[in-house]
Amino acid sequence: MSRHVRIDLPDPCLVVLVGAAGSGKSTFAARHFRDGDVLSSDAYRESISGDAADQRATGRAFAALHRDVRERLAAGRLTVVDATSVTARGRASLVRIARIAGVPAIAIVLAPPAEVVLARNAGRSGRTVPASVVLRHLADLERSRRGAGIEAEGFASVTVLGGPDGDRADDVAVLVGGRTSPRA
Ligand code: GDP
Ligand code: MG
Repeated sequence: MSRHVRIDLPDPCLVVLVGAAGSGKSTFAARHFRDGDVLSSDAYRESISGDAADQRATGRAFAALHRDVRERLAAGRLTVVDATSVTARGRASLVRIARIAGVPAIAIVLAPPAEVVLARNAGRSGRTVPASVVLRHLADLERSRRGAGIEAEGFASVTVLGGPDGDRADDVAVLVGGRTSPRA
């Protein structure tokens, strides 16, 4: 594996994964971070309502997720948020939480071509999201990247992986505080 992209993360930091359902966020998180450092919105929905797909639980799920991000950052623990975060509004709450904690927020955008995302979502073994929802995520992300883009939202760095002009998500080495991450 060529590993030609290196993402250097300060420790602690808040890693915000950004990408449509099916873009590979959870796979990326599992490959590069300890399970306990990854807070996934699906897991919070599941824990609150018994169903990871229950959108009615979204408000409470994010309230709990944000609370735990605050507590972890206050304790100086690197934290990864695995949620779509495809809208500026969703990202802004995370950037604000990191700023108040005095911890840098780092965006990692998973942006494979739309047909790849749709095929991965349709082909996955567990839950699949309706294609219309994936298309909405992709449109939200595209809108986010126009103009000044995600780079202007207060992140200490923004890395885009997987787009036609981006790097492949599996060619990445993640370093935490200068050391290779636990799962590399
Ligand atoms: P998420 O919805 O963004 O969390 O996406 P997942 O990580 O669950 O990935 C969706 C599907 O795509 C799963 O079946 C993964 O196994 C597959 N997948 C994720 N990343 C890659 C990748 O880099 N290469 C390939 N070939 N498949 C991937
Ligand atoms: Mg996922």
